[in-house]
Amino acid sequence: VQAHLDRLEKADALNAFITKTPDLALAQAERAEKRLRDRTHGPLEGIPLGIKDLFCTEGVETTAASRILKGFIPPYESTVTDKLFQAGAVMLGKTNLDEFAMGSSNKTSAAGPCLNPWRRAGDDEALVPGGSSGGSASAVSARLVLGATGTDTGGSIRQPAAFCGIVGLKPTYGRCSRWGIVAFASSLDQAGPMTRTVHDAAVMLRAMAGHDPRDSTSAPVEVPNYEAALTGDIRGLRVGLPREYRPDGLDPEMAALWDKGAQMLRDAGAEVVEVSLPHTRYALATYYIVAPAEASSNLARYDGVRYGLRVEGASLDEMYCKTRAAGFGSEVRRRILIGTYALSAGYYDAYYLKAQRVRARIADDFRQAFRDVDVLLTPTTPTAAFGLNETIDDPITMYLNDVFTVPTSLAGLPGLSIPVGLSSKGLPIGLQLIGRHFDEETVLNAGLVLE
Ligand code: GLN
Repeated sequence: VQAHLDRLEKADALNAFITKTPDLALAQAERAEKRLRDRTHGPLEGIPLGIKDLFCTEGVETTAASRILKGFIPPYESTVTDKLFQAGAVMLGKTNLDEFAMGSSNKTSAAGPCLNPWRRAGDDEALVPGGSSGGSASAVSARLVLGATGTDTGGSIRQPAAFCGIVGLKPTYGRCSRWGIVAFASSLDQAGPMTRTVHDAAVMLRAMAGHDPRDSTSAPVEVPNYEAALTGDIRGLRVGLPREYRPDGLDPEMAALWDKGAQMLRDAGAEVVEVSLPHTRYALATYYIVAPAEASSNLARYDGVRYGLRVEGASLDEMYCKTRAAGFGSEVRRRILIGTYALSAGYYDAYYLKAQRVRARIADDFRQAFRDVDVLLTPTTPTAAFGLNETIDDPITMYLNDVFTVPTSLAGLPGLSIPVGLSSKGLPIGLQLIGRHFDEETVLNAGLVLE
């Protein structure tokens, strides 16, 4: 823990952490030492972790990278962090993210952007770590922590994992409790591990997962021993390559990486076949109705009364307006506007209801495919990490980052991103394995072969 804290001190330029908690970490480490001595230790005893600043941590400021939560100190611990601490994990601090987890670059953070520790060969331009769990990905990649928590609503664990060359797993919706995690889009949000290896992800997920009576959408299903499932034996496994994930414009480097991954699985004894997910092309449009709609509702609670920031006004209404105007950044405001519009009386059927119908079709595509195959293999992102100062003013271009990750989220399926190669510029690029509901074991085991 001390060695990692020392490393952390020297890595301020990455801006991977919003809050550092060295005193807490050392106290937890001391407890860990004692439990190790007494042989009462848990599976993560003494392991230094970063916690995305979207998880409420008792007594430690939790901001969701928003001005509106500045100064909010939760009086409770999220279920996932509580479980990690029970397992012995040590928190070094709260990691940076896009404001309220909305974004793919970590540039919408009120705490300033976080940087990717990687650079293109022969080029010193700063790159984004991806988002929204950019701080967690950057911290694991730079070896500031041994693992970190992320949350994924439409790709926020998998895309930054791919950009930073680490492993990131979005579990099945319902696998981990959402209790105490600042809500973005409640029917999509899911917590998961971000680690250096598939093995670490298996160990960490087991500690995080499980039914929680305080989250009615957490599933009452048993948590398997993921580590035990890691045999590396995938003989006879049926792997599907969705045809629709190979659009005409697919980056040739990504296409080559995908072929390489398929070959690695074949060499290990898997059978690789093409499958079709015909509604894929509607996924982004569907996500960008459903997620903002739920966000607009979830974010209504930030009114200057209950949490964090308050800007006084002459009346209660004025106080609400001034607080929200000062507290939310522009991407969050955009989502609230889209969401309230899609949910408004005259448009509900045309947008929200229709999006829900398309969502069901997308989930059905996967159901059909999984009759024939056990896992799907796709690229995680369309490109490698982009430059911090590459101006992506157009939000639609930014949203395109999520094209390969969003369908899985809409269907609630587990998705694992694994670093499988380097681009010609020397940047990490990753592949995604998608599994059946609650079948993280198969996904992780196949992931072992790709790492
Ligand atoms: N990039 C996506 C968005 O901006 C996904 C974010 C996430 O998964 N939290 O909504």
